[in-house]
Amino acid sequence: MNCPGHILIYRDKLRSYRELPVRLGELGTVYRYERSGVMHGLLRVRGFTQDDAHIFCTPDQIEDEIVSCLEFAIDVLKTFGFDEYEAELSTWDGGKSGKYDGAPELWQLGENALKRAAERLKLKVTLMPDEAAFYGPKIDMKLLDALGRKWQLSTIQFDFNLPAKFGLEYVAEDGRKHQPLMVHRALYGSVERFFGILLEHYAGAFPVWLAPVQAVVMPITDRQLDYARGVHARLEQAGLRSHLDDRKEKVNLKIREAQIQKVPYMLVIGDREAQSGSVSVRHRKHGDLGAKPVDEFVKEVCKLVESKAVSENGLTT
Ligand code: ZN
Repeated sequence: MNCPGHILIYRDKLRSYRELPVRLGELGTVYRYERSGVMHGLLRVRGFTQDDAHIFCTPDQIEDEIVSCLEFAIDVLKTFGFDEYEAELSTWDGGKSGKYDGAPELWQLGENALKRAAERLKLKVTLMPDEAAFYGPKIDMKLLDALGRKWQLSTIQFDFNLPAKFGLEYVAEDGRKHQPLMVHRALYGSVERFFGILLEHYAGAFPVWLAPVQAVVMPITDRQLDYARGVHARLEQAGLRSHLDDRKEKVNLKIREAQIQKVPYMLVIGDREAQSGSVSVRHRKHGDLGAKPVDEFVKEVCKLVESKAVSENGLTT
């Protein structure tokens, strides 16, 4: 876990309230010895990359900090095309069982900040009483994938335990030393698991901005090879991930293979295209889109990539 590392960075010098909030983020590889029976593709692995970040701040700052964490999390979900998500707010038991750390005032402050932040964003929240971690309350974002399955992703979690254990402090306006609030914030949770969820959600057919190969250039015969190379180079210059399929195979086979790979665009090139500076565009889902000048195709795809479009309306209408 990178939590203790960030704590040491915070503690490296005496902090003034003027420096807060301190926000530290890092992609860190962690390991957990899962038993072989419970490992599951990319969804549950023994080595994974966490995007845990930590915010150290004053009680005055905490609500705004949580609002911006939630906004960040929602922005990430929407960008990847997940429109359906739920938030769960896990609280303590009021101290009845004694299993939770931290003073009641801290719990109240933390839970109120989470609630108010969710209200400000008009986020629908399910309350999960007595489901908090022993060290603090949290909000979890759960997304629903294309098959309606729920996945836990982003989490914003108070920690009353570590700042006390590590003796974290800052000098407040009153000139005295206070303990900062600490929040763990993960957006993807585990990057590997997020990949797994994305693969399942799109069934491998990624939106063009995410597709590992965005277009395959396919000359019909060797006669168009030079022109095809030029088209491929033109796509790469524009920053697109292009592949030139210059094998001596029938174009139908090339199309079939690219189709199985779920490559968004197949650019078929015969004599007519080579002579007119165009490509015959085939979309993996919508089939033949007809011939287009190369520059026009590049422009339209770049637009889809830049806007991170999750549906390819531009090139399929
Ligand atoms: Zn952490």
